[in-house]
Amino acid sequence: MDRNSSNHPNNRAGERPHEYRAHERSSQNGARRRPEQAHAPRADYGAAARPSRAVGQTPAAPQGSRRKLAFALVALIAVLAVVVVLRVAVAAPGQGSGDAASTSAQVSAQGGFDSQGSRASDGDVTTVKTSAGALSTTRSEADRSATSDSDNGYDAKPDEKTVYLTFDDGPSANTDKILEILDRYGVHATWFVVGTSSHLDSIKKIWDDGNQVGLHSQTHDYSTDYATESSYEQGLETLAGEVDQRLGFKPTVIRFPGGSKNSYDGKVADGAIQAVSAAGLHYFDWNVENGDATGNNLPVAKLVANVEKEAAGDNSCCVLMHDLESKSTTVEALPQIIQYFIDQGYTFDVLTASSCGYHF
Ligand SMILES: [Zn+2]
Repeated sequence: MDRNSSNHPNNRAGERPHEYRAHERSSQNGARRRPEQAHAPRADYGAAARPSRAVGQTPAAPQGSRRKLAFALVALIAVLAVVVVLRVAVAAPGQGSGDAASTSAQVSAQGGFDSQGSRASDGDVTTVKTSAGALSTTRSEADRSATSDSDNGYDAKPDEKTVYLTFDDGPSANTDKILEILDRYGVHATWFVVGTSSHLDSIKKIWDDGNQVGLHSQTHDYSTDYATESSYEQGLETLAGEVDQRLGFKPTVIRFPGGSKNSYDGKVADGAIQAVSAAGLHYFDWNVENGDATGNNLPVAKLVANVEKEAAGDNSCCVLMHDLESKSTTVEALPQIIQYFIDQGYTFDVLTASSCGYHF
């Protein structure tokens, strides 16, 4: 950015206001003189008049102006001398030809690295190491609500060890507790929300905290969702409208109730997948579960053990959990599950329309 060498004298001069002003004053004087001397008619401002004015500039500035010109020349030499001195002073050790501008760019980049712990940032996406020791990715609202043309069923899994914590069926009376735990660790998760939840207004807080809000089902009634190949997709339109009212956009990130292929949608599964895909929606299954779908308030140790067993050996994990009032031990197990992924060196991220689908 500042590498244009023509910027250097100005930058350096800015650090030496004295010399800069001297130089500036002399050129301002010169600029002021011209109209006084010329008092030229309007035609003088025409293109044809310019060359003669440029050529005549030096002769038209006789006597004292020669002294000013010399003064300006001396000031310019002083400025250049300062530039040379500064370049030598700022150059990094061992960098004989260290460029002052690029060195300061490195310093500011390193400053960001130190103060924010930033590992990677492209403006919309930033990954930091949180005070709890978690590698955590934060995505802008634009990035989270972005759509994608890709068929994420074929997207490759992330290169780095990545974990996506996902919560189905909420929001619920437990949502605030889950958000508090995520906040404590500085990590984010993805919610797949249900239209019949009496806590739908919580999606605003979920979203504002940097988490992802996706669609699960309007009714979460298998017989309604999977009545025909298109009924699930049609039901999502109502739910998308609910989210739109609160967040200002319609999510394209979705999860089928029971997953994309389950015991309830056998006859319509392929058609339902085609219907959501044709509507520009991206569906996500999972490859790890804490097992809370199999019963209410399962022992915390069991939930944690399920995750550790299923995550073992997986470079990237999409973890299925549930945000329901009846699943309180899911909340209690969450800190241990997060700590497990921290200890294993995973980066926490949220699902977007461009993420891997973890399809069954
Ligand atoms: Zn569900």
